[in-house]
Amino acid sequence: MAGAFSTLAGDIEAIAGQGLYRSRRVIESPQGIHLRIGGKELLNFCSNDYLGLANHPSVVQAFKAGVDRYGVGSGSAHLICGHSAAHHALEEELAAFAGRDRALLFSTGYMANMGLVSALVGRGDTVFEDRLNHASLLDGGLLSGARFKRYGHGDVEHLNANLETATGRKLILTDGVFSMDGDFAQLQALSETAKNHEAWLMVDDAHGLGVIGEQGRGIVDYYGLGQDDVPILMGTLGKAFGTFGAFVAGSDVLIETLIQKARTYIYTTALPAAIAEATRVSLKIVMAESWRRDKLKMLSERFQQGAQQLGLQVMPSFSAIQPIVIGGSQRAVDISNALLNNGLLVSAIRPPTVPQGSARLRVTFSAQHEEWHVDRLLAALDQLHL
Ligand SMILES: *Cc1c(COP(=O)(O)O)cnc(C)c1O
Repeated sequence: MAGAFSTLAGDIEAIAGQGLYRSRRVIESPQGIHLRIGGKELLNFCSNDYLGLANHPSVVQAFKAGVDRYGVGSGSAHLICGHSAAHHALEEELAAFAGRDRALLFSTGYMANMGLVSALVGRGDTVFEDRLNHASLLDGGLLSGARFKRYGHGDVEHLNANLETATGRKLILTDGVFSMDGDFAQLQALSETAKNHEAWLMVDDAHGLGVIGEQGRGIVDYYGLGQDDVPILMGTLGKAFGTFGAFVAGSDVLIETLIQKARTYIYTTALPAAIAEATRVSLKIVMAESWRRDKLKMLSERFQQGAQQLGLQVMPSFSAIQPIVIGGSQRAVDISNALLNNGLLVSAIRPPTVPQGSARLRVTFSAQHEEWHVDRLLAALDQLHL
């Protein structure tokens, strides 16, 4: 029995030896700022449910009504018989929200990115990626078979130099709000550079949509840019929207290209129609309830100030993602465990998710948190004498 997988066991031991072993926590409650794990209630600082919509009564109600109307499964891919009136309406509403001609739903953000890049570029073309891009953008670039060029984080000059020598189609891919640092892409400069080199610019705004910009329209809106400046926008629905799935928004020809060519769109089952119904309600709340964004901003600023006073290494983040850099992987895990013993759930993020030597606590806030929750976290960090 030691036979077939004996080399794998060694790999896992090596992972554990580097403080990089990953395991799952079993959640016994709905998502929210309070989670029950092992019968114990914890205060949650690691969710991407930034606006507190994952268990919002109106969103839950819309989901139930969606199940009553459409049942649970969608039966097939969008191109066969899985594309419901609910999906169609949500796509139209997302397009209007993003200020674009059309939007196309994907079952997950990971799949949207994988499918999108391969639909647009291939052998003989070049993709350009920020060094800190999300894994799904990097994997999408690699899968496409295009030449793969990374540029230093936010380093538009480096990107420019790379673009000078590139041949074929050129596709620049970037996170909008960087998922592990919380900082913003320099979209104005990126957009100018893209135009100068006749390159296509794609922004993955998984952490910006709902959280920043007018009515939560995300980072492209925050910089006052539009479809002509950033022709390809990807957004996820499992984070600030509190539901599940993702979309790409842009021109009619872009969306038609994806329908014809994106394999992760064509060859997968459509997400349940009830999810689309829930997301339609969630989108209304995202647009209408600015207080959720205002509160997030207030909580994040309070945390930044408090953490700086404690001498912690915070990052220059204006988003709901407020990382504290620790350095070593094992140390980050030990601190996360110490916080857990204090009833606080804060995730330790380690390589390869973040660069070597920059393991961190990724603190995230929700509009459901109150000031005293932030203060409780700060007090616990203070007691650890980091
Ligand atoms: C979460 C995330 C994704 C993946 O989205 P899923 O819907 O969870 O698959 C893609 N890009 C970024 C930047 C993300 O943070």
